[in-house]
Amino acid sequence: MSRDAPHLLDLPPPAPGEALEVAPGLLWMRFRLPFALNHVNLYAVDEGEAEGWALFDAGLGVEETYAAWEAALAGPLRGRRVSRLIVSHFHPDHVGAAGWLLRRLGNPPLHMTETEYLFARYMMAGGETTEDPLYAGFYRRHGATQEETRILIERGHNYLRRVTGLPAAFHPLERKVPLVLGGRSFRLLIGTGHAPAQAMLHCAEEGILLAADQVLGRITPNISVHAMEPEADPVARFLESLEDLRGEVPDETLVLPGHEQPLTRLHGRLEDLAAHHEARCVVVREFCGREPLSVAELTPLLFTRPLDPHQKSFAFAEALAHVNHLVARGEMAWVEKGEVWKAKAV
Ligand SMILES: [Zn+2]
Repeated sequence: MSRDAPHLLDLPPPAPGEALEVAPGLLWMRFRLPFALNHVNLYAVDEGEAEGWALFDAGLGVEETYAAWEAALAGPLRGRRVSRLIVSHFHPDHVGAAGWLLRRLGNPPLHMTETEYLFARYMMAGGETTEDPLYAGFYRRHGATQEETRILIERGHNYLRRVTGLPAAFHPLERKVPLVLGGRSFRLLIGTGHAPAQAMLHCAEEGILLAADQVLGRITPNISVHAMEPEADPVARFLESLEDLRGEVPDETLVLPGHEQPLTRLHGRLEDLAAHHEARCVVVREFCGREPLSVAELTPLLFTRPLDPHQKSFAFAEALAHVNHLVARGEMAWVEKGEVWKAKAV
């Protein structure tokens, strides 16, 4: 499997409120996030003097984002109108400020995939704040302590603190209907595994991919199993999506991701991401080959560096994702299904 290693572009990331033109009329912006992953990338596509800017992603719904937007609108966006907002997926660092931003801009159209829009609306309606004992039972069954269970369930409340609503109507992005932004034709590609139907936009003519979180240059997008779909196999969905991308998007494409640096040599990165999950599966199978383990027992073996509660909840959900994947592949099985479930390699 010889191929070129992915190449991260050595560009200075723009400060919050500033922008860097990464292709003609395509601006890269970066706002801060109060997490270990401390920033998110946002983009603006020039649609011409009359139309204004199409924005791609809104950022986290917190004060610091609003200040960065004000600076960007008055600065690099030159006070021009915004034609529309496209949001890639329902995670709060991408959709969070959307409600605020659309109100601030006089309600230009919102474009999302139908699934991401509905999922965001569900989350914003408190979908994950449920007191249903089924949720607590799910985490307890996988060995989480009472405290860890509380933190995992708190995630739904945290979501609500970082979002600002969405309008009651939106424009669904469709696979077969190109989105024309300022004369450039973008085709919708859907990324699964990290989010249910993440929107990526591909301009084949110019070799540009707005990749959101599906392809990141250094870190691997989080793949999680949640209480709502306890036996889901998002690792399989993610791997399928990487395969699709390889078929749909040429290697020599400028990839503009939701975090970290823009990159080229996409196919090398797709292979790296797939290899990462395969390597994870090997390690999980090894640990669970020695003795049956619960997900809570497995998590610190996989993630050995100290984690804050936020990262810990991601780690737990990702460890479970790999176990579910191996169970689905028939390489592991839940051998104990008592109060705490334990899985073993078969
Ligand atoms: Zn993100």
